[in-house]
Amino acid sequence: CLCSMVFTGQKHLLDMEGALTARDRVGIQDFVLLDAHTSETAFLDNLKKRFSENLIYTYIGTLLVSVNPYKELDIYSKKQMDIYMGVNFFELPPHIFALADNAYHTMLAEANNHFILISGESGAGKTEASKKILQYYAVSCPSTTLLDNVRDRMLLSNPVLEAFGNSKTLKNDNSSRFGKYMDIQFDIQGDAVGGHILGYLLEKSRVVHQNHGERNFHIFYQLVKGGEEDLLHQLGLESNCQHYSYLVQGECANVASINDKNDWKTVRNALSVIDFDERDIQDLLGVIASVLHLGNVQFEPDSKGYATLNNSAELLWVSTLLGVNVQVLQEGLTSRKIEAKTDEVLSPFTVDHAIYARDALAKAIYGRTFTWLVNKINDSMENKDSSRKTVIGLLDIYGFEVFYVNSFEQFCINYCNEKLQQLFIQLTLKSEQEEYEAENIGWEPVQFFNNKIICDLVEEKHRGIISVLDEECLRPGEATDLTFLERLEEKLDSHPHFVTHKLADKKTRKTLERGNFRLLHYAGEVTYCVVGKGNHGVRPSGGVTLLLNVASQFKSSLLGLTDILMSKEPWYVRCLKSNESQQPGQFDDVLVRHQVKYLGLMEHLRVRRAGFAYRCRYDVFLQRYKPLCPATWPYWRGVAAEGVEVLVQHLGYLPDEYKMGRTKIFIRHPRTLFATEDAFEV
Ligand code: ATP
Ligand code: MG
Repeated sequence: CLCSMVFTGQKHLLDMEGALTARDRVGIQDFVLLDAHTSETAFLDNLKKRFSENLIYTYIGTLLVSVNPYKELDIYSKKQMDIYMGVNFFELPPHIFALADNAYHTMLAEANNHFILISGESGAGKTEASKKILQYYAVSCPSTTLLDNVRDRMLLSNPVLEAFGNSKTLKNDNSSRFGKYMDIQFDIQGDAVGGHILGYLLEKSRVVHQNHGERNFHIFYQLVKGGEEDLLHQLGLESNCQHYSYLVQGECANVASINDKNDWKTVRNALSVIDFDERDIQDLLGVIASVLHLGNVQFEPDSKGYATLNNSAELLWVSTLLGVNVQVLQEGLTSRKIEAKTDEVLSPFTVDHAIYARDALAKAIYGRTFTWLVNKINDSMENKDSSRKTVIGLLDIYGFEVFYVNSFEQFCINYCNEKLQQLFIQLTLKSEQEEYEAENIGWEPVQFFNNKIICDLVEEKHRGIISVLDEECLRPGEATDLTFLERLEEKLDSHPHFVTHKLADKKTRKTLERGNFRLLHYAGEVTYCVVGKGNHGVRPSGGVTLLLNVASQFKSSLLGLTDILMSKEPWYVRCLKSNESQQPGQFDDVLVRHQVKYLGLMEHLRVRRAGFAYRCRYDVFLQRYKPLCPATWPYWRGVAAEGVEVLVQHLGYLPDEYKMGRTKIFIRHPRTLFATEDAFEV
């Protein structure tokens, strides 16, 4: 019950702090308790006050707001887990464990499926939050020795997937470059018995290209720096990152916050625990090494300008490690097979083409290996027992991001964030509205910025950007990056969230180059580069015929994800980034305010109390407050709703302050409840 819990929680907090002034010092733990006319400034003040006391979590009702502290806090120990276990949401200070625990107990009590949507921009703390939740379940759910194996595998899948799917970007030293949805399956007793991961669009272009200040995927550096001498020898690798062209483009192979050697040991050990036998591990590392060798394969033009190989030793390693005939490999990298009626002829590549083919091969090898890895992890976490299970899904997907140059990957990542924001809007509005309807309570909807318009701009049939991209991909030989942009300009010329140099007004035009388009996302403006060499443009291939339909596939996988989520009960963690420089304890007011704005936290707060800040079941309300009225104390023998009516009349509630629903009382302002709580003291 929300109301009594909030007060118990707040009182508990006061007890812990030992003084009534605690609330001033540490702020308020649930924004719903702030004054009804809370301004954005008051909202931020509360966050900041709490952040300065290392209180990084605050509720908006049952939604958890988390601010990245960029420092280790002693709040995730086993002792802390024990404190939160089985305790209702508002009885303790806000915590990620409280949310995990309440999702778990609700799932058990209602025997239905749930998901926890963790959102926020790159570096806001989503992956850390999802790891804390998984650890909580692994440690706090009932256990048997048999299940311990499954748990270990679930936990250890994290370092492995992070090694292969995360990398250092300008925003985050451990940025997720793939989306991850993980179902944790529980049996009827509440044991965590299995898991299943769905991976979404890995940023494969990173394998062959990194911007300045960014790295390739962690695993490459871990292997080269941490790999044992014998192993490196077997793989033909040197223990020096500078030797590998795919590792040095960003000029930051060493990162202060990352210990690749130690991480290597963790990953190597984790692979063994997750059922990878030595043969699997050898093959896996062989493939990773082959990508590094491939990156060092260089081409020179022959007398006719066609590509020839100038380093056959590296190619030999690729052929050995992949088990592919060296001749076939060489042909594939330097020419294209054209089938004429009965014949096959080889059409030689220029050097640029050969480099493109080499990079495409490296990306394909890495991408497929990643898919194989996810499948393998799924096999090891699979629960073959067919008894009924319920699940809690954890969604940790790449956060909204804006770089100096934004290409196809940013387009997909930001589109994904639009979809999740849309889902959040639909579910929060929907559930609130449904509750009012079910309880027969009239309410006035809150004005929201609904980002559906931007989702449509990207995904609408015939008109949306992805549709136009698809159409252009079907015109091989005719379509170019620029015809794609022209098509977009034709179809979207008056769209309020789409701008190009041609469509912009005079002032905006100065900020937009000709080969770009700009989207006005819910989280801010992003300018995407259409004209790209190789994989750097928004068209994924940079050439029309290769690498087709990636955006369409991504769109359908996101629609699939939305369906999965819509069939479950939602919980939300909204992560905020405290500063851009990843510094401990720094709270950048402007940055945080911007996130509070675009994540719609103020609107969410308003919806939470669209007239009614609290609701409470009649029997629970009566149980808690019956001592305050002689007619209900010590017993009320009639219907609970009537007892509540008598009680609130006695307490002097004005007609405008509350509404009686079918099963619950709805109370408009927190102050009414504060006053009722205070009546105990009197
Ligand atoms: P991306 O979208 O780029 O994957 P993210 O939201 O997943 O970003 P994280 O990788 O979870 O971001 O967090 C970035 C870094 O912030 C972490 O590596 C860690 O150093 C720090 N951090 C995040 N959450 C916490 C926390 N609760 N306590 C301490 N440090 C944290
Ligand atoms: Mg992440």
